[in-house]
Amino acid sequence: MRLEELSAHEIRLKTVTGELDPVETAEYFCDRISDASNKLNDFITITRNFAVSSAARLRLRLENKVNPPLIAGVPVAIKDNICLKGYPTTCGSRMLEDFIPPYNATVIENLIEAGALIIGKTNMDEFAMGSTSETAIQGAVRNPLDQEYSAGGSSGGSAAAVAAHHVPVALGSDTGGSVRQPAALTGTVGFKPTYGSVSRYGLVAYASSFDQIGPIARNVEDIALMMNAISFHDPHDSTCSSFDRPDYLAGLDGFKPVTIGVPREYFASGVEDDVVEAVEHAVDLLALAGCRVEEITLPRVNEAIAAYYVIATAEASSNLARYDGIVFGHRCEQVATLEDMYAESRTAGFGTEVRRRIMLGTYVLSSGYYDKYYRKAMQVREIIRRDMLKVFEKVDVVVTPTSPTAGIKLGEKLDDPLEMYLADVFTVSANLTGTCAISVPCGYDRDGLPVGVQFIGRHFEDAELLKLAQRFESVIISESDGGNA
Ligand code: GLN
Repeated sequence: MRLEELSAHEIRLKTVTGELDPVETAEYFCDRISDASNKLNDFITITRNFAVSSAARLRLRLENKVNPPLIAGVPVAIKDNICLKGYPTTCGSRMLEDFIPPYNATVIENLIEAGALIIGKTNMDEFAMGSTSETAIQGAVRNPLDQEYSAGGSSGGSAAAVAAHHVPVALGSDTGGSVRQPAALTGTVGFKPTYGSVSRYGLVAYASSFDQIGPIARNVEDIALMMNAISFHDPHDSTCSSFDRPDYLAGLDGFKPVTIGVPREYFASGVEDDVVEAVEHAVDLLALAGCRVEEITLPRVNEAIAAYYVIATAEASSNLARYDGIVFGHRCEQVATLEDMYAESRTAGFGTEVRRRIMLGTYVLSSGYYDKYYRKAMQVREIIRRDMLKVFEKVDVVVTPTSPTAGIKLGEKLDDPLEMYLADVFTVSANLTGTCAISVPCGYDRDGLPVGVQFIGRHFEDAELLKLAQRFESVIISESDGGNA
């Protein structure tokens, strides 16, 4: 079997038994992504030297044979908003075009410790603001399933890289859906862990009370493997919880049927018929697997999107204030005054969408509007959190579509920010409330583009959620094999 067909789990096993040489693995994958035939624009930087030297060190570690690391020899791609020491971390922005972090994000340290081979930094929407991965200065990411289509956003590079078998696993960041949506649009699995499960230290902040790093893979087992490698308490991130982490991989065993809740509001108008059909079919399959299905109500679906965009832009305007051309970021030198330097550096450094968000965020935080918008949005956030907790008294998992549409053509939503924001309608609730959520492929639309189903789980019940997701995955695979799997 060709190397790119292997799962992360298989690569690890073959590396540990000596069947695969990590240096050859690193070179093989770096060659694949740097090949001229790769037109996806999924990578911004290929970190070949880093991957090869990590692989050489891993070789020595493996010779000692004691406790082979958790993801030994597995090539991993990293979204370009996660700091990797000594390599550019651009966030797809002119503002950070020349930024080379002097330190590693905690997840990078975790991955190195776990024996991963980090082979590159992936393309994204500028500062992770968007749903189509088209706004980076490095250009748009293309969907490997149909290159006229977007790979989703904002972690589109990571999702495209996994879907194209350029890597078995990648990391993205999910503020309002940016791991789950590109996973849905590329037919991969994308997981947003419970807020506080994975350290955000070294993740360039967009909206800190929502941001969470999460893995993308081609199957749920590899998601669990990645969680074992990256989910630890981190004293560098005060929002990173110190709860006892389960063994996510071992937790996949022993599936027991659960009660699933289907919120009717999430299947209403505005959702493509093919998406509704595929997700309803997913619910039927879960019922056949023994799950109890309950109709539930999560009525504030539209308020969720409004609250999300007020809070996210408010936090973004504050987080992005550090890019002033002096302490951080792109600097315009030919200016008359200090004030001009700030204004011109920020105008030239940020793209249109980022500037729009900073303006919106500054507006909703300004005196006179703070109560009217920001405080109101925080109140709505609390109501949505209570709605969600109430639902979880009755059901174990909530099932919804991940994205209202199966495919988004490149350019289709670029000129219409509101349309773009509405793509997040089903994903933002998990960020507003901090719960865990996963997108798993569940079928195709009439054009053959993939549809994702989203499972939302209780806080810190990530392992239980992955267990259900894996059972669903095995049911859907066996169905598409005609029941022969
Ligand atoms: N599309 C959403 C936004 O632009 C979510 C982005 C994300 O999760 N990073 O805010």
